[in-house]
Amino acid sequence: MAWTLRFQGVGSASAVALGSPMATIERDGAPWLAIDCGAEGLTAYLAHYGEPPPAMFVTHVHLDHVAGFERLFVANYFDPARRGRMPLYVPVDVLPLLHRRVAAYPNALAEGGANFWDAFRVVPVGDAFWHDGVRLEVFESRHHWPRTAFGLRLRGSLAWTGDTRPIPEVLAAAAGEGELVAHDCGLVGNPSHTGIDDLEREYPPELLARCVLYHYASEADGEALRARGHRVARPGEAFALAEPRLHPAPAS
Ligand SMILES: [Zn+2]
Repeated sequence: MAWTLRFQGVGSASAVALGSPMATIERDGAPWLAIDCGAEGLTAYLAHYGEPPPAMFVTHVHLDHVAGFERLFVANYFDPARRGRMPLYVPVDVLPLLHRRVAAYPNALAEGGANFWDAFRVVPVGDAFWHDGVRLEVFESRHHWPRTAFGLRLRGSLAWTGDTRPIPEVLAAAAGEGELVAHDCGLVGNPSHTGIDDLEREYPPELLARCVLYHYASEADGEALRARGHRVARPGEAFALAEPRLHPAPAS
């Protein structure tokens, strides 16, 4: 099987032209698991694939990661083939925050009769979960407040950090098997996000060589990051992934 990571957007929250940070893991050329649902990200997703995602993981609930949810609710709820079917994997600590951000508005439909989550199949997840027969792992990132932002690992294949400051000790474990590391990184860091000087200081060369950077502020910043010798994702760009290390299902 061929595995790919395709970026729908690579920009920081204010870099609308670069799209909201979002990507999709593809298997054999078909979308397999989307990561986050920003407004521009969802638009780019639909423009590329032509239909809503088959499944989704949510890293955290800043609006550039979840602002597409109301549109996705409408798309899924009013399609009988989709209503309540799309697995939506949400770290259990993120779930109450996601509910308040996107689902707590009174009366999901003006005419009544619908709950927001009726459109989705919500799966609260802990340290790991199964999707389509494959085990994925969840790790905590460092973004604003403990236990509010998480990354996703497809073992041996991909570590997606989500928004984060550097987390070398976490990635030593969560990206310790040759994974491609899709990492938050702008030209200048701040208390919320990683800057390139942070990354170069905190991470060993072997890990840096596996990084693909996203979440930067402008095309010029992306070029400046490339000029320093780093791989930097462009909107729509796809990266080949190694075959995941599959876990056998536990004996029952
Ligand atoms: Zn964020």
